[in-house]
Amino acid sequence: MSERAEELKKRLFNKRENGWKNTKEKEKIFEYSKEYIKFMNESKTEREIIKSSKKIAESKGFKSIEAYNELKPGDKVYYINRNKSMYLAIIGKEDIANGLNIIGAHGDSPRLDLKPNPLYEDGEFAYFKTHYYGGIKKYQWTTIPLSIHGVIVKTNGEKIELNIGEDDNDPIFTITDLLPHLAQDQMGKKLKDAIDGEDLNLLIGSIPYDEECQEAVKLNILNILNEKYGITEVDLLSSEIELVPAMKCRSMGFDESMVAGYGQDDKVCVYTELTALTDLQDIPNKTAICIISDKEEIGSMGNTGMESRVFDTFISEVLNKLGVNKPNLLEKVFCNSKMLSADVDAGLDPIYASVSEKNNVAHLGRGIGLNKYTGSRGKSGASDANAEFVAEVRKIFEENDIRYQISELGRVDVGGGGTIAYILANKGIDVIDCGVPVLSMHSPYEVTSKFDIYEAYKGYKAFLGN
Ligand code: MN
Ligand code: MN
Repeated sequence: MSERAEELKKRLFNKRENGWKNTKEKEKIFEYSKEYIKFMNESKTEREIIKSSKKIAESKGFKSIEAYNELKPGDKVYYINRNKSMYLAIIGKEDIANGLNIIGAHGDSPRLDLKPNPLYEDGEFAYFKTHYYGGIKKYQWTTIPLSIHGVIVKTNGEKIELNIGEDDNDPIFTITDLLPHLAQDQMGKKLKDAIDGEDLNLLIGSIPYDEECQEAVKLNILNILNEKYGITEVDLLSSEIELVPAMKCRSMGFDESMVAGYGQDDKVCVYTELTALTDLQDIPNKTAICIISDKEEIGSMGNTGMESRVFDTFISEVLNKLGVNKPNLLEKVFCNSKMLSADVDAGLDPIYASVSEKNNVAHLGRGIGLNKYTGSRGKSGASDANAEFVAEVRKIFEENDIRYQISELGRVDVGGGGTIAYILANKGIDVIDCGVPVLSMHSPYEVTSKFDIYEAYKGYKAFLGN
């Protein structure tokens, strides 16, 4: 190539390079990932992530909004909705009517939930019946170690918290699968039909109760649960018990460039947005908001999902306590607000490259990934960011030396997906999807790049502080 063409190319092409090349921040990236991995191992469910996030927020000076009668610039507040979703704010210097800078992620991840009547005995084994939550490939959830997390609430209000299978001294649980020797029929089925939803039953015990009786193994399990937690079978009716992979989140690869762990969709964005907010040094101009929402994986419905009005109520409460609230101010604030919908993106997997279009797919290691639009088949159901707003976000990232890439989820007509973006966009907020690319999304062991995680942290911080 001629020198002139070389030079012109350098000036005109969108350079899409591996971020690890020439990075001066490798040490910082690895340091940050260590804390992220620690956070992941303490926060596998939506309730646990709220607990961990509250701890981080409080250690950085955030207080429940209920502790304030009046708010002023620099105040740091949070609101926790039913232990499952959370909103945080740092009050900015500017008039709040000019809008908010919002980042929103979700704390729930695909998993197996126990049914309301889960316990049964069959063939002298005791089992828990499950109903899967979110989009999973069912075969991935058999023959792996699973842990039990959640709450059992008694009618007197007493709440028993469960976390069994994370400590090395705990037992774990598993769902069995057929041996290949006898799986001829199963192996001939379509992958999606190979494991029936009603066969995702958790094996939890095999010792019968000491005296001769029917369902002696079930009785023995209930007796253990009764002695340990003071519950009877009927108390399981008012419980929320989740099965999640008992594997630890860990550093991955000879070069330790990646992170493997359960629930990185979307806890990777929760951790990066949360630390971005709590690490802000100066009081931001615009009021800075972080959302940790729930139920994203099943459509954001219910009073802890993003579709509920609880977020609006939180912002109203901020307006009340600033002493500025008046009719329609909330709507005006939203119309002037900007948001990054912080959710993971599908990274290019070279083994399955055919589902992606190579010019428009996110690569692990190339930085934070933006999706201008989501949706599927002709952009149906898409939240599509306006070009003006995309330019604003690019400017913030470029001025702050944040490595970013803009892509879409999969080839045209192959599939698609969505995030909470459209819900906030419906309020009049300018929103773009912006998160960390992931491999093996929704599997028990998702993979991310430490480089992208750190760029997300820096990118969110630049956006909130701008
Ligand atoms: Mn997600
Ligand atoms: Mn998801």
